Amino acid sequence: MFTLPPLPYDYAALEPFIDTETMRIHHTKHHAAYVQNLNDALKGRDELLDTDIFDLIGSLKKIPAELQTRVRNQGGGHLNHSLFWKLMAPKPAKAPSHSLMSLIKKNFRDFKTFQEEFSATAMGRFGSGWVWLVVHGRKLEVVDTVNQDSPLSLGLSPILALDVWEHAYYLRYQNRRAEYIDAWWNVVNWEEVENLYTQALKKKKTK
Ligand code: MN
Repeated sequence: MFTLPPLPYDYAALEPFIDTETMRIHHTKHHAAYVQNLNDALKGRDELLDTDIFDLIGSLKKIPAELQTRVRNQGGGHLNHSLFWKLMAPKPAKAPSHSLMSLIKKNFRDFKTFQEEFSATAMGRFGSGWVWLVVHGRKLEVVDTVNQDSPLSLGLSPILALDVWEHAYYLRYQNRRAEYIDAWWNVVNWEEVENLYTQALKKKKTK
């Protein structure tokens, strides 16, 4: 069985950038529904219900064909939101650590260029989806996915995530996605980005 992980902070903790009501509904209704629907889809398939969500989404093709779409959507929703909550924090460090910063500069020329590329990709994602910073081989890349698709299913390791579904910002920002994206940069948890990067490299070594 999959369960809804608790938020690592209060619903109000990301104010004024992400509002309390959005955080509450997003976590207790949207994310909770993905977890419930995933459990329903896998009812009676104990071996799948016991699989780690990263492994499940990372090897979608091994799942019985009739279940793949639901696991991709509902399981993806569960995984993506689990990452998203941890990748935000109240009063985070304003910038990545020295080592992560050097890495970003190596891959994107400078930090500003990286942020611009990420934000532009978030603006360009038509309809619902996500924007990611991923580890691809030894490189960092910005990619976007539709609906609840995860870069993990494409063999990429996500280390930063931004939800650009309207449910993530509509209450406070309505149609103003650009304002939401600008505000979100203030709550990015760079420490967790670095954590995920280290984990991604370790996984590659053990493969
Ligand atoms: Mn969402």
